[in-house]
Amino acid sequence: MKNIRVRFAPSPTGPLHIGGVRTALYNYLLAKKHQGAFVLRIEDTDRTRYVEGAEEYIKRALEWFGMSPDEGVDQGGAYGPYRQSDRKEIYLKYVDDLVAAGRAYIAFDTPEEIQAMREREQNKGVHSPKYDASTRMTMRNSLTLSAGEVTGLQQQGTPYVVRLLVEPGRTVEIEDLVRGSVRFDTTELDDKVLLKGDGMPTYHLANIVDDHLMEITHVIRGEEWLSSTAHHVLLYEAFGWKDSMPSFAHLPLILKPSGKGKLSKRDGAKFGFPVFPLAWDAGEGEEAYLGFKEAGFLPDAVINFLAFLGWNPGGEREIFTLSELVEVFDPAHIVKSGARFDYEKALWFNQQHIMRLPDDALLEWLRPGMSAYYTDWSEEQLKRVIPLMKERIKTRNEFYENTRFFFSEDWPYEEKMIRKKWKEDSPAHLQNLLAGLKQIDPFEAAACEATVKTFISENGLSFGAIMPLLRIGLTGTLKGPDLFQTMEILGRERTIARLERALEAFPRIKG
Ligand code: GLU
Repeated sequence: MKNIRVRFAPSPTGPLHIGGVRTALYNYLLAKKHQGAFVLRIEDTDRTRYVEGAEEYIKRALEWFGMSPDEGVDQGGAYGPYRQSDRKEIYLKYVDDLVAAGRAYIAFDTPEEIQAMREREQNKGVHSPKYDASTRMTMRNSLTLSAGEVTGLQQQGTPYVVRLLVEPGRTVEIEDLVRGSVRFDTTELDDKVLLKGDGMPTYHLANIVDDHLMEITHVIRGEEWLSSTAHHVLLYEAFGWKDSMPSFAHLPLILKPSGKGKLSKRDGAKFGFPVFPLAWDAGEGEEAYLGFKEAGFLPDAVINFLAFLGWNPGGEREIFTLSELVEVFDPAHIVKSGARFDYEKALWFNQQHIMRLPDDALLEWLRPGMSAYYTDWSEEQLKRVIPLMKERIKTRNEFYENTRFFFSEDWPYEEKMIRKKWKEDSPAHLQNLLAGLKQIDPFEAAACEATVKTFISENGLSFGAIMPLLRIGLTGTLKGPDLFQTMEILGRERTIARLERALEAFPRIKG
């Protein structure tokens, strides 16, 4: 088999949506699985939709996920340039070839003339009129004008486009890797514009020329491009490149959490979850978005989640890192039906990945955010807290939020529980226990546990009479990691000081 070459070909029209990341991912996985090439091509020929910063964003997102292109705008490569606006001249030659071969033609129609044609057709009862075989001979183009007229108009600088000549009455068929055989009736297709009035190619022309010149073997992209594929096949035919046409795989839609309708960028704000990988801030007055990164996700967890939106490896196993996915990826297991975006599932994947990550990797991941939450924390403390918390958090932010009592003295008591648990004999018990805890040396979890348990049993008390008070006194809340480990990490001094504070505060709260 030929070396596999795939491309991720985003248009820099805004931040990369999570669906785009999935497209990049499937391309990347196929390339890496077969030691092929993953190419990043920037499709920026539509200058009206160009958004400043979007190309940078796309590159940063790929980098965050660890999906670096083998060839691309920054990497270079033997098939460059990889930004379509830098390839303008290349397309002109190919479009000239098509016109010379009679597979495309020049059209001078103004928008008003095209509108008038539509109205004429509609009056005749045509439902959705098109510039096609049924209308092209009524228009101003190189098929209806003489060669001299065409040259004359061009010399006067009359704006024109180049259109593909679509022959009606044929069936075009592709064998899609996901959808199987897909057929199109060419009578339904219009004479697509290939070259625009500004001399820029349209997406269709540039995409086909580039896929051919870059020797792309597989086109993996979203379902929304399936209908364009008919024109693409006709273009391959027109150029005489049909034999080296790439294979196509059109990925299923990503659906809203309800399963109804396509997931949109607005849904993130609406339901309170990210739909972009990284934060995007387009400046004043524009909508800003937070990404999965800022929501406290590990890149591998997002990748794992996205991989399973529309694909599965078969079998029970669900947790994979990016490199493990490379091993098992098989496009034959991509599903046809839309995949529901389930944020709870994304959180679950993140939790699973956090649990599996070695402590030193977690340290690297957590360290940079610490100072935004705490002024007074040490790396030493953080190192000790990580093993205690790693099975208890779904996001990075949850780690910071749920470990306040380790790194700060500023946290509230769950007062309702104090009112419920603080009894007449509680002050005496807590006093005595405190006296016992003061004796412990070294102040370790096992010794704390032994002291507390012995105290409870020797005084004929129940766990429920002591443990909740101890926990709230030390951490403010009833939820949390192992209490004796917590005490060891806090150390004797802070444990004692907090319990002394509780002895004063709890009676006041009880009132
Ligand atoms: N530039 C197109 C996009 O933004 C690429 C579609 C394709 O992969 O052919 O998605």
